Amino acid sequence: MNSPPKTVLVTGSNRGLGLEFVRQLASLPSSPSCIIATCRKPDNAVALKKIATKNPSIHILQLDVTDRENVGRVKEQVGLILQGRGLNLLLNNAGVGPGGDLYDVTEDIMMQTFKTNVVAPLLVTQALLPFLKTAAKTTEGVGLSWRKSAVVNISSRLASIETNDEYLLGRYPYKTSKAALNMVSKNLSVDLREDGVLAVSLSPGSVRTDMGVASAPLLPHQSVEMMLHVLAGLNDQDSGTFLNFTGDLIPW
Ligand code: NDP
Repeated sequence: MNSPPKTVLVTGSNRGLGLEFVRQLASLPSSPSCIIATCRKPDNAVALKKIATKNPSIHILQLDVTDRENVGRVKEQVGLILQGRGLNLLLNNAGVGPGGDLYDVTEDIMMQTFKTNVVAPLLVTQALLPFLKTAAKTTEGVGLSWRKSAVVNISSRLASIETNDEYLLGRYPYKTSKAALNMVSKNLSVDLREDGVLAVSLSPGSVRTDMGVASAPLLPHQSVEMMLHVLAGLNDQDSGTFLNFTGDLIPW
């Protein structure tokens, strides 16, 4: 694997894929010197705190990604932790996956899902942009890469409009919000290319987490290992794409 980024921030890192991202990033050879692991309720994040006690590079910050004031506070805290260093990798992982078919979907569930899965990743990225741009400017190396500066939005294969017929469930809030998140990734990739910041949507596959189905083929450690491998190989051509955990392109 190419050398990993020096500084990383992960949202929703108390359980599921977010927790596994922190665990694996912290145990990479030449692991990041700073992993900012954010979650809504650090007091309850037992597994995360256990990893952090063995790893001084992990800083746990309280963050509800849908709370604007909280995002502003985290921006200040991140600045204090980084002390002039940039943020190389932002993993917008936090998400919700409610049901909601044509006959029972409600306005509330649509709005709440969009707030968490679309608006929050965009506004968290907006808040942390100065740090991402600093990282792009100050990290050696030519071209876009995860070790320089990258925004990774964790999307879902269910967001693919082109292959939607393969999935029978309605899942209106989830599918439409992740499809919109994909547009956020694409827009970011265009807006930030000149600044040296890469942006992608990445699908973790079907994974056995609280959100995933119990019969899902992948365990969190398998999905995250493959996603990190994909991230390590990203370059200029990959920015603005929608990738599977295997590294294959997913049709929009
Ligand atoms: P989990 O349900 O296990 O974890 C979801 C995480 O998101 C939790 O840490 C949760 O925190 C956090 N979260 C939700 N809302 C907020 C919020 N407002 N602020 C901060 N954190 C929040 O799911 P996964 O680990 O499986 O999901 C991670 C990502 O992967 C999601 O974006 C999901 O859509 C995506 N994904 C997962 C798939 C799967 O099969 N598992 C398939 C495709 C995509 P809390 O504990 O506080 O609720």
